[in-house]
Amino acid sequence: MLYDITRTVTPHLAVWPGDASFKAPLDWSIAAGAPVNLTTLTLSPHTGAHADAYYHYELDGDHPATMPLEAYLGPARVVTVTKSDGPLLPADFPPGALTHVERLLIHSHVSDLPDEQFAQPFPYLSEELIAFLAGQGTRLIGLDSPSVDAFDSKDLPCHHALKRHRIVNLECLYLRGVPDGDYELIALPLKLDVACGSPVRAVLRTLNEE
Ligand SMILES: [Zn+2]
Repeated sequence: MLYDITRTVTPHLAVWPGDASFKAPLDWSIAAGAPVNLTTLTLSPHTGAHADAYYHYELDGDHPATMPLEAYLGPARVVTVTKSDGPLLPADFPPGALTHVERLLIHSHVSDLPDEQFAQPFPYLSEELIAFLAGQGTRLIGLDSPSVDAFDSKDLPCHHALKRHRIVNLECLYLRGVPDGDYELIALPLKLDVACGSPVRAVLRTLNEE
């Protein structure tokens, strides 16, 4: 069974305040007599479920095309947190939930918000949690929150800590209705050069299917 953990990208989907929202105007239109419908997409790469590129916050960081592809594909664990605001520490997770977790997807109240509503407040990561997960061999951390750092953070300590530990992240996932547990994650970024991130179609496949 597949869980689609991606919100539908529409012009009404909330984006980070000030970011370009999704537009897909028709350059050519069948209704107007053209042989095809042809749209031009405009959007912030941080619209809906997306992968940040290291270039988003460090000048010499990777663009989506060179981010480590294998990190976005493989065993993943969904864990629900009750904290709705502030930094998440290892102690905010159920006992054992973070042990040997290759990919961690954090499910918070944000998944219950409507598409049009920018999440605020939202829970985010902490350097302590990232260091702990790095010690467990974690390669990817995904959130339904719109950032791994606090909304008003300017120095972005968690973003930088992810790059330091060579962990990749996903943001703005949609985990409503997904039971906690272990899955296979598939959430590949587009092979974009010179972009600060990429939208992904994130899905979870249940394990041990006949
Ligand atoms: Zn982002």
